[in-house]
Amino acid sequence: MTMGAAHGARIGVVNEPGHVEDVDALISTSPDLALVALGADCATIALSGAGIIGVVHCGWRGLAADVVGAAVARMRTEGAGSLEAVIGPAVCGRCYPVSPERIQELASAVSSGVGARAISTSSDGQPSIDVRAGVCERLTELGVPTHVIGGCTVEDEALFSHRRDGVTGRQGIVVAFGTVDGQD
Ligand SMILES: [Zn+2]
Repeated sequence: MTMGAAHGARIGVVNEPGHVEDVDALISTSPDLALVALGADCATIALSGAGIIGVVHCGWRGLAADVVGAAVARMRTEGAGSLEAVIGPAVCGRCYPVSPERIQELASAVSSGVGARAISTSSDGQPSIDVRAGVCERLTELGVPTHVIGGCTVEDEALFSHRRDGVTGRQGIVVAFGTVDGQD
């Protein structure tokens, strides 16, 4: 189950295989589906709870739109219980300089805690955004334990980076229900 990113906070609740356009999060309660989020600098997040899985694609616009909060809220509405998150590789604050206007737009949209973590300084001294740090802080605010995997997509040549390479591939994060040694 894949999605076409829209850089907003729309969520697709899916229980059939396929592709959903114009959403930045997918949620499923089907034990037979794997969910995939793709990114090449944006953060990709996998979420799991009791009988429910989700994936989120989140760049700075998604952070401002609180796609992570929307996905977590929807999963809790569906009875997720305690959630856990894994965040994949993303561009870091050293490598993502942005305009002061964009910093202002983000700061006005997120909590002071998320802003403090997400707003950074690039390696060349420009204002910058660390999306993944902001997502981590947002998940902490939401009470979701979070594991971070992988490094910066721009700095690690083994990872796809739109900012570094222009036309590029994507890396994905996948979540599915599984049974290991009799445990869900
Ligand atoms: Zn970096």
